[in-house]
Amino acid sequence: MRTETLAVRSGDLALAPDDVVIAEGIEGEDPCTFPSPGSRRLLHGELRRRGFTVHSGTLRAATTGSPGDPVLHLARCAPPGARKQILGVATAPGDERARAAVREVFRELGAAFRTRTVLLASPRSFCAGVDRAIEIVERVLTDRGSPVYVRKQIVHNIHVVRNLERRGAVFVDDLDEVPVGATVVFSAHGVSPAVRRRAAERDLDVIDATCPLVTKVHAEARRFAQHGDTVVFIGHAGHEETEGTLGEAPDHMVLVESVADVAALRVPDPERISYLTQTTLAVDETAGIVAALAERFPALRAPRSEDICYATTNRQEALRAVADDADLVLVVGSVNSSNSQRLVELSNRRGTAARLIDDASDIRPADLRDAAVVGLTAGASAPPELVEEVVDVLAGLGAATVKEREVTQENVHFALPRGVCAR
Ligand code: SF4
Repeated sequence: MRTETLAVRSGDLALAPDDVVIAEGIEGEDPCTFPSPGSRRLLHGELRRRGFTVHSGTLRAATTGSPGDPVLHLARCAPPGARKQILGVATAPGDERARAAVREVFRELGAAFRTRTVLLASPRSFCAGVDRAIEIVERVLTDRGSPVYVRKQIVHNIHVVRNLERRGAVFVDDLDEVPVGATVVFSAHGVSPAVRRRAAERDLDVIDATCPLVTKVHAEARRFAQHGDTVVFIGHAGHEETEGTLGEAPDHMVLVESVADVAALRVPDPERISYLTQTTLAVDETAGIVAALAERFPALRAPRSEDICYATTNRQEALRAVADDADLVLVVGSVNSSNSQRLVELSNRRGTAARLIDDASDIRPADLRDAAVVGLTAGASAPPELVEEVVDVLAGLGAATVKEREVTQENVHFALPRGVCAR
């Protein structure tokens, strides 16, 4: 990739050290060669991760300038099978750190230009429980106006949360932050009876967006506990779903996260023991924990039906269908999304490096250098348009052949709760 450095002549462009401007266009250059949105997204993300404040704008290059002018770094490149591009980043005069970073990112981006295959895992992205939870908040916003309070993130995805915030949703960690008598939506992950009691004490108008498949696990917890069992809950400490389910029978339930936890487990009566699981666990790891429990406690009772939900199972199955043939797997999802994290772990366990990305700007160009085949999927809380954006970005780095590998079709739909009208 050929690079050059010019002074920027732009009347109102005043840059401080660590400020950079990515050119959306460069006056005087052929508009057909402006950087693709994909290249700009990767440039933006990489410079942001390196601690720069990144702006965007149209820049005007000049071959002459004064020493105090910002500096425009240009890279002319020709990704195979994609149109020629000019990447431009302006840095403050004398900002050597920014200059070196821009040059390095240009090099990394240049190395990422290649033709590649994108293997799309299917099913991916939104599940029925997430669709329902988002629709509930949207409907309540439409019917009652803002603000609508939501306890915790409605689903674990930062883009979903920001989008609903823009529309008037107010996300709170604690019900005490909600004004007395106001409307509050419970998130898809469910709440404990203690939270429901607190809502009643504050006279809150509760709309429950708990996924019906989480509600099913809560009911099983109550049933087993009423039977006098110690209920072993296989899940992740601190996750909202875990807290909500354990809260159904706190005196009868115990959390285990691993086979090692099973070995250390002590229960009052080994003849009265059952287990439940979080809905978003890794199927293979959970099977190992259940097997360890059954070996230690032969009287172990299982839930009536599998607690790990269809969406989690299907996304893991689809991931398997692409990971083995990919050089790199990208999982679209937020860091607090349990099922997304499990997809990353599953791919890594199968020997294909995986990265969790909130969106395309999180893709590191250096990761793409040797990735001729990229597997792509998304956790159940990640919007499908973010996957499309990743495909567009990859296609901007060189011709991309997209192949979808579908392991099953999903036709699950959950009805809205009473009091929330369907669209
Ligand atoms: S991942 Fe499963 S349990 Fe969680 S919201 Fe989706 S369908 Fe419900």
